[in-house]
Amino acid sequence: MVSRVTLLDAHVLDEHITKIFINQTLKVFKFLPSWILNNFESEINAILQIVLTYYSVAKMKATFGQQLLGIRFKPDQLTDTKIALFQFFMVVANYVQSKSERPSKNFINNINDLQLIVNILKTASFMNFLLFLHNGKYPTLLQRFLSLSQESTRKRNIEYTFMTRELLWHGFSELLMFSLPLINYQSVKHKINRLINSKSKHEDKKWVDKIPLMSARIVCSICHDKPVLPHHIKCSHVFCFYCISSMRMVDEQFECPECDHFEKKIIPVILN
Ligand SMILES: [Zn+2]
Ligand SMILES: [Zn+2]
Repeated sequence: MVSRVTLLDAHVLDEHITKIFINQTLKVFKFLPSWILNNFESEINAILQIVLTYYSVAKMKATFGQQLLGIRFKPDQLTDTKIALFQFFMVVANYVQSKSERPSKNFINNINDLQLIVNILKTASFMNFLLFLHNGKYPTLLQRFLSLSQESTRKRNIEYTFMTRELLWHGFSELLMFSLPLINYQSVKHKINRLINSKSKHEDKKWVDKIPLMSARIVCSICHDKPVLPHHIKCSHVFCFYCISSMRMVDEQFECPECDHFEKKIIPVILN
């Protein structure tokens, strides 16, 4: 019994390999007159699909995806008729689907209810997929129809540690991204600073209200630049209005960084 993951992986690999092969080949037609590709893209696709299935299922008794993952169709079930039917349905299903996606004046579009057929097929493959999840036998509708089950030619171990680790890291980083903006770093920093310095400074100082003297050389005590709209908090230091108000917004207990003076009001410096 082959595990469901391997069967599904093989199916996905097949689809990718087919897509890559067809896209690469269609690039060749870029240099030919454009009407070829415009009119016959579906037909070229079908021919390429025949080539692919011939070299995989007909010759090797397994699709390319199955070969990569070390599984194959059970040889006793894979008769020549079934191989031919498999090829036929693979090609026809893709052809009909590509035709229904790109309507043109073609004989196949004259078939009534082409879309209906495609929809029925899609519903059927969905039902088949649900059944596959339940009993893990036929990953595609075609394999169920031809009752082609698969066996493994070697053991495959699937490691989930990497995925678990990725999931954990993802969850953790999402938590950080959500919670970090909620932390007020400035306020935390000031609080820690205050805790460390509380004993040494506050005891031996008595605050005397002062008014700073403006001079050409005075700078803002926060940004150390020429103060813009100079304000003070009753110590001899000057702050830009923006600097001091933004600090107060972050931390209501913000003190003068130079002398640790605290005053709730922010007062404009009156220039003489
Ligand atoms: Zn400033
Ligand atoms: Zn000060």
